[in-house]
Amino acid sequence: MSENFISHLEEQIRHHNDLYWQKGTPEISDVEYDRLVETLRSWDPQNPLLKKVEAPAAAGEKIVHTKPMLSLDKVYTKESLRQWMAKVARTQDEPFLVQPKYDGISGKLEHGVLVTRGDGRVGVNITDKLAIIDIESEKRDGILGEIVIRNSAFETMYSHVLTKAGTPFKNSRNAVAGIVANDGVEFYLKQGARLTFVDYETNTHPLKLNEFAEKWDGIQHSIEQLDYPMDGIVVRLQDATYAESLGYTEHHPRGAMALKFTNESVESVVTGFTLSIGKRGTLAATAQIEPRDIGGVTVTNVKVPVIDTLDGQPGILSGGIRVGSKVRVERAGDVIPYLAEVLEVGEAAPTAITDCPVCGSKLVRDGANLFCRNPECGEQQLNQLYFSVMTVGMFGIGKEIVRAIMDITGIRDFLGFMRLDGSLLVGQEGFGKTRITAIMDEIEKARRCTPELFLTALNVPELGKKASEELLKIYSVDEIIGGLTIAQLLRANGIGEVMAKRISEGLVEKQAYIQELRKEFELSQSAPAPEGDAICFTGKSTRPRSEMHQAAREKGLVPVDAVTSTTKYLVVADPNSTSSKVVKARKMGVTILSEEQFWAL
Ligand SMILES: [Zn+2]
Repeated sequence: MSENFISHLEEQIRHHNDLYWQKGTPEISDVEYDRLVETLRSWDPQNPLLKKVEAPAAAGEKIVHTKPMLSLDKVYTKESLRQWMAKVARTQDEPFLVQPKYDGISGKLEHGVLVTRGDGRVGVNITDKLAIIDIESEKRDGILGEIVIRNSAFETMYSHVLTKAGTPFKNSRNAVAGIVANDGVEFYLKQGARLTFVDYETNTHPLKLNEFAEKWDGIQHSIEQLDYPMDGIVVRLQDATYAESLGYTEHHPRGAMALKFTNESVESVVTGFTLSIGKRGTLAATAQIEPRDIGGVTVTNVKVPVIDTLDGQPGILSGGIRVGSKVRVERAGDVIPYLAEVLEVGEAAPTAITDCPVCGSKLVRDGANLFCRNPECGEQQLNQLYFSVMTVGMFGIGKEIVRAIMDITGIRDFLGFMRLDGSLLVGQEGFGKTRITAIMDEIEKARRCTPELFLTALNVPELGKKASEELLKIYSVDEIIGGLTIAQLLRANGIGEVMAKRISEGLVEKQAYIQELRKEFELSQSAPAPEGDAICFTGKSTRPRSEMHQAAREKGLVPVDAVTSTTKYLVVADPNSTSSKVVKARKMGVTILSEEQFWAL
């Protein structure tokens, strides 16, 4: 009887798998499907089909979406957007949701499987890429979102991440597409590449129809400040049932609309260049152009891509950007105008760039950038110091004030700034009594910043806020600055080999300085360590997760969501599994338990 029952279950599960994953026409709900799987598991825990259920299709395989992932209809002006809202609204109070329109690759994470949108009907299974994707969502599964590279990550990280052809990626969308389409993840993982899968619901603003005039501009502004590549804003009806009831046009759902940032562009001519040095000594270039009006703003200069090597020269402005070149300048939404293309290369000879425009040191090429490696380089010191000052929350101190303080006092770094003697500023131009008091107050307040902000403010390459947060989940701030081994750094989520190496080198190089700086701070404590041993559950179990958590608490354990080196147990359906989570846990010395072993604790 049981044999028969099991084979009947197997047959049903296969049938529904096929309907779900291959044909995209499920006949039963997810709950019913899960029930079938759980029944099979309780009768025959070793059944090979259970493994397949967890990984229904191999990476790279095509998957038919259960529900087509349609693209959104678009409008190009605020007024047409408002008209659309008025058309679909039932009353003046109709609630809408406003979200960024990310410029990446849309995808869906369901049953632990990540699938791209593809053409909307058929996508590609890219579950293997989860190894280099940070998920930004309140949920752990059933997520609709976009795979992107945060703007800040693209700026700092992707000059080192090279394509198979050995060239840097042109823009963040190209990078996402290239990495996602690549066979496997090793190649990019080794280079420290990270992607972000952001849930569409993560950055949502509510908006009622009758609030449009009053609130729209503020919402648009705050969305545009987000650290993601975007090409517009999405507005959808909050009432999903009502939206669904409106149905679909041939290509688009009727319950949502995208306002595309308009790309306005003008032609102009390059009249000169300015070179500057960024926080890490990176050379940046700005081209002056004949002034043009774009969308109500007069544009006189644009950032230009920096460097292309010329035989025997350290660098030259790339792509035929010279004095006299005819260029097209574009502005998308409120984004800073940028150079879209060179229409005609100017007559002037290309300018070879060899020396730092600030200190005159020879520039050094690293990856796709040129750097000034002179630690005494003034502009670089200012930029680094200003970054630290902002990071620890001294928002009242502007860049020009920092510059003036450097000039007056000779302070060159963050340590010096934290030890600022206010009396040196007395009587100096621009430093009245009130201002000096305000500056000293800001410094005092900053001493009690959080450990992750302190770490970020150290200005160690690759040790940003996110990496700091992840490290602090495992180590104390003093353990981190004391110097962790690469192996220890690699235990943190989202830190790959290249990053670990850079962080480790950066901390070692500035060790003495960092220890001195540490004395200037009374860091606020992070969350207290849990009182019992931490336990993490992953994958399917015979009882609901909440029940497992309750049982764990009754055993004096503390349920946690992620495995770290302080986790004592990981409970998993198959303790011999080679899933990345289990392998990682094993490496960290976490005890891996089957569900039976857990109940027996
Ligand atoms: Zn320099």
